[in-house]
Amino acid sequence: EAKVAGRNQYKFFDPEQDRKLADYYTRVAEAKTALKNEEFELFYQPKVNLGTMEIVGYEALLRWRHPEKGLLTPEAFLPPIEKHPEVAINLGNWVLDTALSQVCTWNECGLDVAVSVNASAVQIMASGFEKTLETHLAKHPGLRPNQLEIEILETDALNDLARVSRIIRNSKLSAVRFALDDFGTGYSSLAYLKQLPVDTLKIDQRFVRDSLHDDRDQELVKLIISLGRIYDLDIIAEGVESKAHGELLFRSGCQYAQGYAFAKPMPAEEVADWHNAWTDQHSEPAGLPRQAT
Ligand code: C2E
Ligand code: MG
Ligand code: MG
Ligand code: MG
Repeated sequence: EAKVAGRNQYKFFDPEQDRKLADYYTRVAEAKTALKNEEFELFYQPKVNLGTMEIVGYEALLRWRHPEKGLLTPEAFLPPIEKHPEVAINLGNWVLDTALSQVCTWNECGLDVAVSVNASAVQIMASGFEKTLETHLAKHPGLRPNQLEIEILETDALNDLARVSRIIRNSKLSAVRFALDDFGTGYSSLAYLKQLPVDTLKIDQRFVRDSLHDDRDQELVKLIISLGRIYDLDIIAEGVESKAHGELLFRSGCQYAQGYAFAKPMPAEEVADWHNAWTDQHSEPAGLPRQAT
């Protein structure tokens, strides 16, 4: 900042900057309190196999049940938290623990599904991430191998790809899977694809959204699917809002989807009933037309 301002414009007091800093500390303090008061919650959104309509897993999505402001989604509270390593890591551990407990509960109810957790760059780059994962997994002996998937975003905080690659490789020894979230929207996506030993590529919703009516977006989605195939990855599209989107994706070679067309993220206690109703409704092997190869 000082450099940009120039030699003769050095600012020793900037009320705007000061206000932002105070706001940041207030927000971080609020998040700490919220964690202590158990105001955070995980919602779950199903991931569907487009060929069979089976539910293969659920993504855990963080919510804050704020005492005054009501239910908040991450964009309303997560950015300042992610700049504060201690709070981000504590919250990340809570998310991991809660999601793993949940999947064990589902196992006991006979739901055979995986759970995906979004991890922030601070969490992944913190020393001992692999150890933390191992400890969490050990706390939940009811867990099956490959039942946990970690979704990572391409951000400049993960720019040491050799290191991230090592972290992923080590974590995979504990049978954890990894997905590249919002693929194509971040910073040097192709380098991430080439260097990170992930299992899944998630096509970002902004590519999916207009693909029905925009030929170029449709080609872009196909290109992303081809890229995923080069690296032998599972491919899932997010933000699938209609059956027509799902059908187009399936015809283009995308196996899995997530979006409002199937279900919005829902509170944990609604999942089992929703899941059983879905399974009953889709147990007839109707499915979609054959997938193009
Ligand atoms: P994401 O991981 O890419 O998750 C997908 C987002 O799209 C979610 O927003 C989901 O509610 C929304 N979505 C799902 N289907 C549809 C659809 O058909 N149409 C539209 N328009 N949107 C759909 P949400 O829950 O607000 O989460 C936003 C982002 O916050 C997530 O994006 C993820 O990057 C981050 N996030 C969520 N939970 C966590 C968490 O526990 N830890 C961290 N570090 N980040 C999280
Ligand atoms: Mg995600
Ligand atoms: Mg995403
Ligand atoms: Mg996203």
